[in-house]
Order: sequence, then structure tokens, then C-alpha cells
Amino acid sequence: MGSGSWDIMRSIKDYEAIIGRDEVRSILRLAKRVYGAKVIHVNATAYGGGVAEILKNLIPLAQSVGLKAKWEVIKGDPEFFKITKAIHNALQGSKEIRLTEEMKDHYIMVAKKNIEYLDLEGDVVIIHDPQPLPLVDYRGKNKWIWRCHIDLSDPNPEVWGFIRRYVIKFDAAVFTLERYIPDDVKGLIRTYVRYPAIDPLSDKNKPLPTTTIVKILERFGIDPERPIIGQVSRFDPWKDPLGVIDVYRKVKKRIKDVQLVMIGCFAHDDPEGYEWYRKTMDYANGDRDIHILTNMDGVSDLEVNAFQRAFTVALQLSRREGFGLSVTEALWKGVPVVARRAGGIPLQVINGVTGYLINGIESASRKVTLLIRRPWLARLLGEKGREHVRRNFLITKLLKDYLRMHIDLVGI
Ligand code: UDP
Repeated sequence: MGSGSWDIMRSIKDYEAIIGRDEVRSILRLAKRVYGAKVIHVNATAYGGGVAEILKNLIPLAQSVGLKAKWEVIKGDPEFFKITKAIHNALQGSKEIRLTEEMKDHYIMVAKKNIEYLDLEGDVVIIHDPQPLPLVDYRGKNKWIWRCHIDLSDPNPEVWGFIRRYVIKFDAAVFTLERYIPDDVKGLIRTYVRYPAIDPLSDKNKPLPTTTIVKILERFGIDPERPIIGQVSRFDPWKDPLGVIDVYRKVKKRIKDVQLVMIGCFAHDDPEGYEWYRKTMDYANGDRDIHILTNMDGVSDLEVNAFQRAFTVALQLSRREGFGLSVTEALWKGVPVVARRAGGIPLQVINGVTGYLINGIESASRKVTLLIRRPWLARLLGEKGREHVRRNFLITKLLKDYLRMHIDLVGI
């Protein structure tokens, strides 16, 4: 590792057909003001999860408008990632988590050791999530932004107190929702609320011919003729994978031929993944209409794209969620989403318009059944969902947001 890799070539002009010529021009005008500036994004994994997904698409796009954009990935040992996952869970609300002095020391020591490998000499350095935070102790006069992707509305106070020490050394912090901004950073550093985004031209989201979709489904033993419910998420208790199976079982009582597809991957920075994969497999109990697939089975971006396009209904039963890019991806593909009201999900799933917000397993199964039985309704919601994403959650908008913040901070 060391730096994130991508083999994507992008030009902002490629997006003209989707966002319009005026929007492309407006992005180019902003980019001209910071032409040649070096912008470095730092995160903890080159693969798996929403942040890696954004960076792998944003960096080439930023380069295409004249920025020297770089992506750096920190290294850590398994102990480090265990601690950072505990920090992640604590910041998202787990009150029982305690960080011992030893754990804190290890976290700081490993994060800071990365100074030896990373290039942090940019005009702007953007640190994503808590893992690389301690690097801020080595900052120079350049501008440092902390991009927090997680739900900070009700953090474990002790762990937040520890993390806050680093956060207030930044010039600015970016959150996904207003209510995630902790009161005790307001007024100390600049804060912004900005949404994550998907790339409509990536392998994960680009249009696919029906024949490709059918071939991929058949390769994994899924019947394209029968209804499919699906959830695409890391195996993580917050994403409620067992609840997904419960919803499927309830729907199955009413619609006999329904199938469930659960796509999960193992992110490099997520040590809980395998344990929850096993739990989900055990819970599925050999049901032949439940397909649990991972990157280990050869499911990568193109396959995820095909599965999402084949979903009759997408589920997102997350109990906690920063934003929920999987939801954005499904909506972009014209698939209605039935989801819990967690984090950024209600920004995307507008109840009765782009999908349904539900409170539990029973209501989820009723809405899923409704959408399978009424394809016209599913289509209508799906169309609205796609337009909602086009207007608000595409990578071009995110690039524009970063350009504006950059200009704002550097003051040009
Ligand atoms: N993802 C994937 N393969 C999987 C599971 C997830 O490519 O097996 C991707 C998914 O398509 C989305 C991202 O990982 O782009 C998950 O982002 P989200 O914001 O939904 O959740 P996070 O993992 O960041 O909590």
C-alpha cells in the first residue's frame, strides 16, 4: 500500500450528457482558480467501503480539471485496525467501549509512523475519518481538512474527547449532516455540511446491456425471471444483515418465488467482516434462494452494478449509517429502496417518492411485497430516485464542493 491506485481516465466533458454543459462550464471556471494546486486525500483503505469508492473516482476527475490530486493510504497492523474500528463504533454511539491508555498509544504511534511513507506536502490535505487523524500533529502551514464520514450525533463522550484533540487542529471539518457537527468544535474551526457522491461512469454505476446483466446473474445461479430483493453492504452489525434475512423470510411467505441477494465485501480496515459473514451464512441456513456473495466469489464493481440493476427492490436496513452510498447506487439505477431512517438515508429515500422509510422488519416486508406486486409503482419510484441522485449526489457535484471549499480556505 502507501497510495491508493486507480486506472481510471476521466474527463469532466464525459459528464456533459448527464449534468449539462452549463454545469461542466461552472466546474471548469472554479477549477481554473486553483489550477495546478496539489490536493492530497488520505484514508485508511484502498478498497472496500464508501470512502475508497469515492476517492478512486474523485481523484482522476480532479486531475482532469487541472489539480495535482493524490490519494495516500495509511498502513497499520491488525491491532491498529481493531482499535480504529472500536473508535469508529464508539463515535457512532457505542457507549460501552473503553480505550485503554495502551490502545490510545498504539493508535497514535501507528498513525504517526505513516509520516515516513506519506506525501503530505500539498496545498490542501484532506484526512478522511478518524484513522489517520494524529498525522495532523505534523502539519505545516498548508490547509488541513478533516472529512468525517460517520454519524457523530451521539458519540461515546470519552472517545470523542480523545479524538476531538486532533480535530480542533484542522482548519476545517466536513460532515454529512448538520446534526453530526459536535457542539464543541463549532466556532473553533470552520465546519461544512457536504454530501458524498457516486460516479455515474464508473464500472459500479455505468449503464449495462441487459445481456451482460443476465449473464452475470446466471453465473451466480440467480434466476433473472424471478423477483430479487438485495442489500449491498459490508458485513457489519450496523447494517443488520440478519434483519435482511428476516425481511426476506416474511416476504417469501407471500411471494413464493422471491430470491435474496446479499453482496458484502471485506474491507482492509474492517476486522469484524469475516465474523459477521459467518453469522449471516449460518442464519441463512442453507436456503437455496438466499445468495450471499463477496469479493472472494469474484464479485467486483461490474457484478455489483449488474446485481443492483437486477434488484426488484433494494434494502438498506442500516441502524447507523453515515450516508449510505449503496442507497445512492440503487436509486441511480432506477431501483426503489426500502430502508431504515438512519443517518443520511432519509436525504435519499424520500418516503413514498423514491422508496419507503420503515421502522422494522414487519413494515419493511410489507413495503417490499407491495413493490414486487406493483411493478408500475416500483418503476415510478425508481425514476424519481434516479432524478434525485442526478441532481444531488453525483461526483461532479462533490468535485465542485471541494473546489469551493478549497477556494474558501485558501482565500483566492
Ligand atoms: N460495496 C461493494 N461491494 C460489496 C459491498 C459494498 O462494492 O460487497 C460498496 C458499495 O457498492 C458502496 C460502498 O461499498 O459503494 C459502501 O458504502 P456505504 O456508504 O453504503 O457504506 P460504508 O461501507 O461506507 O459504511
